[in-house]
Amino acid sequence: MPRLITRIAPDVGWLPVSFANIYFVGRPGAKWVVVDTGLPGQAREILAAAEARFGAGARPEAIILTHGHMDQVGSALGLADAWGVPIYAHHLELPYLTGKSPYPPADPTVGGALAFLARFFPARSRDLSGRIHELHREKVPGAAKWTWVPTPGHSPGHISLFRESDRVLLAGDAFTTVNMDSWSGLLTAKQRLSRPPTPYTFDWEAARSSVKHLASLRPNTVGCSHGIPISDSDLPERMQSFAERFRPPKHGRYARRAALTDENGIVDLPRAPFDPVPFATAAALLCAGVAIGAGYLDDDNRRR
Ligand SMILES: [Zn+2]
Repeated sequence: MPRLITRIAPDVGWLPVSFANIYFVGRPGAKWVVVDTGLPGQAREILAAAEARFGAGARPEAIILTHGHMDQVGSALGLADAWGVPIYAHHLELPYLTGKSPYPPADPTVGGALAFLARFFPARSRDLSGRIHELHREKVPGAAKWTWVPTPGHSPGHISLFRESDRVLLAGDAFTTVNMDSWSGLLTAKQRLSRPPTPYTFDWEAARSSVKHLASLRPNTVGCSHGIPISDSDLPERMQSFAERFRPPKHGRYARRAALTDENGIVDLPRAPFDPVPFATAAALLCAGVAIGAGYLDDDNRRR
């Protein structure tokens, strides 16, 4: 049985695959698009879910990427090849989608659960040359009622998608609806308007401006890349107070100074702070190794 796409607003479907969300905009029998594509290796699952919703042989007009991180772009090429459709992203995101530049490195020292885990998930870029196209003006190809809004900060060319008629917002990683800085937030997936994924956000001032702008759109429904979408009559007020409370992390590589980037990718980076955890882990492993070694010796000694 394929996973089912859940409706979060008229003609807007949500498909969570592992910890990242994919959205389907449009209805069966008409034009539709896919927003973001999850991690690598998920194309088959996404194709099956799309077929269950839109019918066998149905294909979207396009794949739209909110940005180019691995959990949005992972299965993009597999899907684009299977459907034979173009992929679109903002032009400031293209260096990271064409092999021109890596993203600014993640900051595992910024603190919190996701930052801890970030050490084990090195960020890699994907080369979508030949399939990737630049978004033009505010039009979303294949989704006539929608516009895209530049929401930089988490990444340089990050965009959000907005349908003004009923104020539905698909915000990618401009913010999240789960607190990924907390272990309990990650484990329970409790709905909460939260910062963009902290260790992967490179310009906090821009991120704050983007959240402010999105709050000013007064969305009724929000679907982000992470967390369960929220649809709520008091959501506009909650977004407003979230934007007012929005603060960068207290410390970390990009907390005070942003990574500098341009249309070719990285220009300049703040220096990486010292990260004690790998050394602490190595020391702990060494101690464990010594202890185990000593234990074996003891056993050997005892056996003799
Ligand atoms: Zn991201």
